[in-house]
Amino acid sequence: MEVIREAAEMRRIVELARARGKTVGLVPTMGFFHRGHLELMRRAARECDEVVVTLFVNPTQFAPGEDLADYPRDFESDRSRAESAGVSYLFAPGPGEMYPEEFATTVEVEGLSSVMCGKERPGHFKGVATVVAKLFNIVPAQVAYFGQKDAQQLAIIRAMARDLDFGVEIRAVPTQREDDGLAMSSRNIYLEPDEREAATALFRSLAKARGLIESGERNASVIREAIGEVISAEPLVNLEYVSICGNIYLEPLSELSGEVLIALAAHVGKARLIDNMVFEMELEA
Ligand code: AMP
Repeated sequence: MEVIREAAEMRRIVELARARGKTVGLVPTMGFFHRGHLELMRRAARECDEVVVTLFVNPTQFAPGEDLADYPRDFESDRSRAESAGVSYLFAPGPGEMYPEEFATTVEVEGLSSVMCGKERPGHFKGVATVVAKLFNIVPAQVAYFGQKDAQQLAIIRAMARDLDFGVEIRAVPTQREDDGLAMSSRNIYLEPDEREAATALFRSLAKARGLIESGERNASVIREAIGEVISAEPLVNLEYVSICGNIYLEPLSELSGEVLIALAAHVGKARLIDNMVFEMELEA
């Protein structure tokens, strides 16, 4: 595996690989790899000839006061884990390479960016869309892999790739979880032991929703209430939102039908955690 620091060099490598008929897979990340990241890389390695992982803690998606300075980093461990997962190139640019002083352009996916996490984090998805647009140009891969864990990000990237004709296929990878259900996240490291235990309430509340849906419940208010009950039983977990919406356009639903996303965000100690499940409703006969 080769580490690349310069955008122009990275792009040349990918263009050459494609000219040779290779399929290139892209996995954008902010590093501090856990099993979730590795699953994206392994899937890309199975499905593509060459895998490019990008590692860039993108400053423009953090608001002032968020955890940019504290965001966990461990380059040496990331390098060896990526290599073991079958990655061909690790693109790890410095901030100056991505955002030179004269940088002035942004990409914003309207509508999808202002709901759910976008309410608590205005500007966040503009930062995400802009950096991913740059990465799609620096790494002109045929396929790009994103985690289902970040469901709203996935919906936004799909919309951006479609609207701006990036010609890259977006593939979603299921959320990887700890044994007790907690979705893996680089930010779980912020949790104190009692908070770590309480944090399982996010998954438990979604599992409760799943149970209700499996037993035929289709009323969003009933499901929302059940989620709220599980979360409020944990005083260390402060619920920010629960969204029950369509999985593509994120439009709120009162009755569940079609492909439904149930997503939530909560603050637990220093960490802001998100989780979700997607349900395919069977068409009524
Ligand atoms: P991050 O480094 O947090 O920006 O994440 C990089 C990519 O890994 C994104 O596409 C995330 O959705 C994905 N990812 C993060 N955590 C998980 C997880 N627990 N399971 C699956 N994918 C994940």
